[in-house]
Amino acid sequence: MTLPVFFCPEMVARVDSFSPSAEKPARVAADWLALGLPVRITRPTPATVAAFERAHASSYVRGVLDCRLPNGFGTRSAEVAASLPWTSGAMLSAARNALSAGGFAAALCSGFHHAGWDRGGGFCTFNGLMVTACALLADDGVENVAILDCDMHYGDGTEDIIRRLGLADRVHHVTIGARYGDRADARAFLGELPTLVRSLGGARVLLYQAGADPHVRDPLGGFLDDDELRERDETVFRTARSIGLPVAWNLAGGYQRDERGGIDPVLAIHAATAAACLSFDGRHERTRA
Ligand SMILES: [Zn+2]
Repeated sequence: MTLPVFFCPEMVARVDSFSPSAEKPARVAADWLALGLPVRITRPTPATVAAFERAHASSYVRGVLDCRLPNGFGTRSAEVAASLPWTSGAMLSAARNALSAGGFAAALCSGFHHAGWDRGGGFCTFNGLMVTACALLADDGVENVAILDCDMHYGDGTEDIIRRLGLADRVHHVTIGARYGDRADARAFLGELPTLVRSLGGARVLLYQAGADPHVRDPLGGFLDDDELRERDETVFRTARSIGLPVAWNLAGGYQRDERGGIDPVLAIHAATAAACLSFDGRHERTRA
């Protein structure tokens, strides 16, 4: 099979930040192609202003896009503003692809879950998870959406938007950063994960944030080693496949650097997630069942 991967150069913005997330999409795309992974790089449809305004306060959306209000990096960069429709659009495009094909799709975007209804922060400007969920609920006839946020950090922005919009019964949100984080939690987390994924099986589609920052060597993370991160991804994809749940997944955080300051350790984690996804793809499983 070939994994649809939503990416285009417009998603990339140059920012001077501790977080590599703005420039990461292009590096990941090049890495997966160099590794020979069977991926099909697909151009996303950009998110519209109206789509942003379903998940966020209109004044915040227009202020950021017009460079009057600071983005999630704390700047008023026009280059970052121009990238935002493409990054959230990549998540939405991946979700629509996964839904229509009944399988898996990836979006090379990150920087979502700390963005709340009327504010950004933590390298996140707009909440592409909730922009996607709101669009699917409003435009695609989807009754409910699940979000499994396996970034190291608590998805406070996602929680904020769900609460403000009264969507708790239609957007099922699990953020592991709320419950796990110590090295001693690794086995308990991995043991509970199949049950967690199955508990989300009533949704039409799962949005999976496959964060790289739960890695033990991440400067902002630290409770899963290489094998355990691989087990996390394999468990999510295997369980989703077993219950016919389409999955759209994205990159989220990851801040390790190698001795030369490069992001190769983060690229290796994202490539491992892609390999796990490819080994458990559930395309057409639901239609066969
Ligand atoms: Zn994080």
